[in-house]
Amino acid sequence: MPPPPRDADVDADVEADAPASDALFARALRVVPGGVNSPVRAFRAVGGTPRFMASGTGAYLEDADGQRYVDLVCGWGPMILGHAHPAVVAAVTHAVARGTSFGTPTEGEVELAEEIVRRVPPVDQVRLVNSGTEATMSAIRLARGFTGRAKVIKFAGCYHGHVDALLASAGSGVATFGHPDTPGVTGAATADTIVLPYNDLGAVQQAFDAHGPDIACVITEAAAANMGVVPPLPGFNAGLRQITERYGALLVLDEVMTGFRVTAAGWWGLEGAIEGWAPDLFTFGKVMGGGLPAAAFGGRAEVMSRLSPVGSVYQAGTLSGNPISVAAGLSTLRHCTADLYSHLDATSAALAELVADALTAAGVPFRLNTAGSLFSVFFGGGGGPVLDFAAAARQSTARYAAFFHAMLRRGVYLPPSGYEAWFVSGAHDESVLDRVADALPHGARAAAGVAA
Ligand SMILES: *Cc1c(COP(=O)(O)O)cnc(C)c1O
Repeated sequence: MPPPPRDADVDADVEADAPASDALFARALRVVPGGVNSPVRAFRAVGGTPRFMASGTGAYLEDADGQRYVDLVCGWGPMILGHAHPAVVAAVTHAVARGTSFGTPTEGEVELAEEIVRRVPPVDQVRLVNSGTEATMSAIRLARGFTGRAKVIKFAGCYHGHVDALLASAGSGVATFGHPDTPGVTGAATADTIVLPYNDLGAVQQAFDAHGPDIACVITEAAAANMGVVPPLPGFNAGLRQITERYGALLVLDEVMTGFRVTAAGWWGLEGAIEGWAPDLFTFGKVMGGGLPAAAFGGRAEVMSRLSPVGSVYQAGTLSGNPISVAAGLSTLRHCTADLYSHLDATSAALAELVADALTAAGVPFRLNTAGSLFSVFFGGGGGPVLDFAAAARQSTARYAAFFHAMLRRGVYLPPSGYEAWFVSGAHDESVLDRVADALPHGARAAAGVAA
């Protein structure tokens, strides 16, 4: 007698076969800590073996076993045009053939800087770096150098890369693993960091009342998206601008995730451009590198001119403005048109609705938060809006894990943690959404089968 058909929906422990990924992971575990070069990739938050991807085309990824997935991670944001976009591939190929690094200025760097300045008017000047981490680290140093003050305010659950001073109550992988502070970061490195609850202007005012003359800057994600998506309440960012201005502190708007993703001018394009305020410094990354290592920080000339070699605040990089990264970034930004942004808005809204319908139909309690075309889903929890890290942390990670694996088995690759935003690209069309829609009832039933 054949065995009864297995109901994979209610059996979250059953993995689809991925022998090639299993073998690669076993090799990786011997020579790379945890088998990965960035912690969230290891699937620790959802369990199971991470898929080793072999290629990507448009909205799809293909793993080492030849299984295809709809990609809702998009490289954690950068792949806004989809994978292997022909124009980006051509630009990179052309650049590679001319030499990969000169350690001199190049024309492409000027073009990329001009493109950023054109899109985000409060930015007079930018400096290119290699990662979002470098961008926020450098922006903080510049803010301290400019003001001659030491203290930095950040918000719990906001992630600004793995900068020592900012690894206090950070989101993303740090939130996933529940290490609000990490060994290796000394008390001295975070002694000047003040961590406040997100979306709480009263707490910010109190901190300035107590420490105003010592505060160099407030750094905030333009819209928080590393504790899941938690948009700023109306007036929060503008309020930060008012308070910092009053005390002579700088406002650093971290747009590494939202920059060039939610509008041509990032999150600032949805708020500051309309409300008439601007931060002193912006940080950018992800989309502006088009899938290669490139990031930037920029702002008004008075502040940026304090950087070496004009000013005395030192900052440098052997590969900064690398010609290949610059070519990928420029070509990506040039395809980030008004049409693309409306496509992303419509696609993410349609996808969010599909997810909400499926979870509602299966009786799974959830909260869906959106910020422009970014969104994420908080499973379970005690109801109520998710406005800060404390609320985000009440989500049911067990339910998310069951949902994640049921979706993976049906060919949909979601972020392997409930603390991450979902992303779509220009290549996510109706047929892609149909595939996700087919998988969703299975994911929702799997989530329903787990105690919150
Ligand atoms: C991803 C991210 C960073 C860090 O960028 P890396 O390139 O990973 O160093 C910083 N800030 C925000 C808001 C991010 O989303």
